[in-house]
Amino acid sequence: MRRVTLIPGDGIGPEIVEACRRIIEAAGVEIEWDVQRAGAEVMEEYGTPLPTHVLESIRANKVAMKGPITTPVGSGFRSINVALRKELDLYANLRPAKSIEGVRSPYKDIDLVVVRENTEDLYAGIERRVDEDTAESVKLITRGASERICRFAFEYARREGRRKVTAVHKANILKFTDGLFLEVARKVAQDYPDIEFEDRIVDNMAMQLVQKPHIYDVLVLPNLYGDIISDLCAGLVGGLGVAPSANIGDEIQVFEPVHGSAPKYTGMNKVNPTAQILTGVLMLHYLGEEEAARRIYEATAAVIAEGKTVTYDLGGDAGTSEMADAIIARL
Ligand code: NAD
Repeated sequence: MRRVTLIPGDGIGPEIVEACRRIIEAAGVEIEWDVQRAGAEVMEEYGTPLPTHVLESIRANKVAMKGPITTPVGSGFRSINVALRKELDLYANLRPAKSIEGVRSPYKDIDLVVVRENTEDLYAGIERRVDEDTAESVKLITRGASERICRFAFEYARREGRRKVTAVHKANILKFTDGLFLEVARKVAQDYPDIEFEDRIVDNMAMQLVQKPHIYDVLVLPNLYGDIISDLCAGLVGGLGVAPSANIGDEIQVFEPVHGSAPKYTGMNKVNPTAQILTGVLMLHYLGEEEAARRIYEATAAVIAEGKTVTYDLGGDAGTSEMADAIIARL
């Protein structure tokens, strides 16, 4: 049986992860879940929020699904999520943004995929306080990481039958860093004549995504722009409650919703499980469980379109577990 590391996370994590796990099981996919705890709750026990045995479990199983984990403010640890991506070299962050009927949004029929570089740029953590009044951070862009992410975007486009890749940058101002990223993107594009290629300056991209999102397809971006633009794209299709993501390396994949642990809703059985469920769909797709992925997606979309058993953010008053039950009934 397929073993998958399951990290419930904290805050609303355990509730939505449980909803997702029940739905995957109801769809008939047999997975042996290797449940691992990480985050603030294990800090006292292990002296770190990300114990080595959690990383070892992911390395052994190669696939993990996780709920959100709170980043303790002011602790020495920057972010467990960022650490996990770096530690396991999960260099590509894949964030699809696809319209779902019944989710309130100003747009219809959006189908975008954001491919965000996950390991460098301003998130490399090369930052310091120079003196009382000055701080600086290094924007690190390398040819290797840029080539790897651009190639990933084109390979993804080809595999998924997509037509276009747009590289997003600010190379007009950041001539060396984003200039290198753009140079590499153009070069990689030459190896994929079957996929259309274009580039956009990030500020213009933000405006165009709001004005005419339908003309875009796959976007590839350095880390910081990817972080921001992918939230914009999530907003185009109804917000964080429905946004899934995957962190992908050459051998290991970790699937998680885009949103965080929303601590104020912890234990209230209130939040929308959709982002976590669609994260599960993404994982099943990668595991080759196409049929189950399609059935879960369609059941979830049908429950949302019907609008009767949905959570508060979708205009309903159902709890997390009731919404999961309704999806299971549809399956
Ligand atoms: P958040 O995404 O947790 O929540 C912001 C707001 O969005 C919530 O208050 C809620 O109103 C809404 N929301 C989020 N998820 C929802 C859902 N499933 N259903 C309905 N409404 C939902 O963002 P935040 O408050 O900035 O972060 C809280 C904590 O989560 C922080 O510690 C942050 O570091 C962490 N975080 C973790 C991850 C991760 O684990 N990958 C990602 C982002 C943030």
